[in-house]
Amino acid sequence: MCKITVLYILFTGWLILLYFSKKRFLYVFAVICASIIVLLSVLFKQSMLSGLMIAGMFFLAAAGIKGGRDLVERYGEAIKQSGESKREEVGVLKQENAQIIDTKERLDRQSLTFSKIYETIKMMSEALKTEEIIGILTAFLNNNINFFESSLAIFSGALDGEIIKLYIMKKGDANFKEGPSSDIERRKEDLKDVIDTEKGQKNLSFVKEDITVIPLVVENKMTAALFVEDLDHSQLETFLILTAHLALELKKVSFYESVQRLSITDGLTEIYLMRYFLDRLYEETKRAARLKLNFSLLMIDIDHFKKTNDKYGHMVGDAALREIAAILKNNIREIDLVARYGGEEFTIFLPETERNGALYVAERIRKAIEAKTIKAYDESLKLTVSIGVSMYPDDTKDPNELIDRADKAMYESKRRGRNMVCAWQRKG
Ligand code: GH3
Ligand code: MG
Ligand code: MG
Repeated sequence: MCKITVLYILFTGWLILLYFSKKRFLYVFAVICASIIVLLSVLFKQSMLSGLMIAGMFFLAAAGIKGGRDLVERYGEAIKQSGESKREEVGVLKQENAQIIDTKERLDRQSLTFSKIYETIKMMSEALKTEEIIGILTAFLNNNINFFESSLAIFSGALDGEIIKLYIMKKGDANFKEGPSSDIERRKEDLKDVIDTEKGQKNLSFVKEDITVIPLVVENKMTAALFVEDLDHSQLETFLILTAHLALELKKVSFYESVQRLSITDGLTEIYLMRYFLDRLYEETKRAARLKLNFSLLMIDIDHFKKTNDKYGHMVGDAALREIAAILKNNIREIDLVARYGGEEFTIFLPETERNGALYVAERIRKAIEAKTIKAYDESLKLTVSIGVSMYPDDTKDPNELIDRADKAMYESKRRGRNMVCAWQRKG
């Protein structure tokens, strides 16, 4: 009985192993062992009944365990399968959800761009200067468009004209800057090619060497072109809505600017009119007072111009006035201001220039006019000028008196024999 107990313990161990193992041969092995127990119980003269009982217990236990495990395996498989199908369903749902989120974000982005375009067009329509429009465009590009660098070339008149301005906008730079027009001349050639090959048809955009070129066309005339480097083409369609308006807005401000320019420019000599000059002089006088700066005024009158008119006629006289104005413009700085005071008299404002500096400029102008042989129609003529100089604040702080004193100094030059420069001097 003791040996049977040992065997019983051993088989219990096997059964435990069997329980934890999935291997079928262990079960077969247990059945064989149970048969051996029956045999041993007979061999060791143990009661057949007790041997059969133990073997029967093993059979029952093994059958129960196997049955249980089959059950577990069957249900386990079913649960596993249902788990997998659920996982698949969750996967599909997740994918659909991701697609919905993606579409929503894209729509959000698009609706943002459309509303930004609307706002940008509105802002552009309120602008009155080209620079304002370019500033608005720069902000729009930076906030809404994926690009590297962009430039806007504005032609004088149509494409056949010169590039009058080139604005460069870089991603991340809040401000645009003006660039050399030479850079863009080659691109302008590309634009011509496209127009020629398309038989006058103007494309909305085309790509050349990673650069998207967007011609800005108004009334079938291309007056500007936008060059966008590395543009994200998914944004192009929306962007073209803005560029169509940009073309119109640029045309509008250019018209406004030319009206403004004409209203302050003398038609014959293309320099400022006296009215504008006076406005600027009053402003600059206040500025000079505030910042404690000095400036000078030149008054210039052509010598014996009446004789020139009498000798050559008014047409030649007018051409001579244009030539003199050009000489004046060429002999001053960008910040200086020249105006036609009236008739054959001119005046020049020289900011931050004291008397000696002004006398130097006046003398340079006098010599340049004296040296020039003016060609008008078939005539060649020589002219001279008399110049008077006054200075702020030494001569006076009143802008009207400054003009008067420069005028008096000019008459002093006339009195002393003409073709001369005189500075205003306090009498006594
Ligand atoms: P000076 O100044 O040396 O004393 O002699 P001037 O002959 O130049 O005399 P003044 O300055 O008084 O003459 C002004 C002349 O300039 C009168 C007119 O014939 C001429 N003039 C004025 N405005 C124009 C213009 O728009 N076109 C032409 N062709 N001539 C003008
Ligand atoms: Mg005069
Ligand atoms: Mg004169």
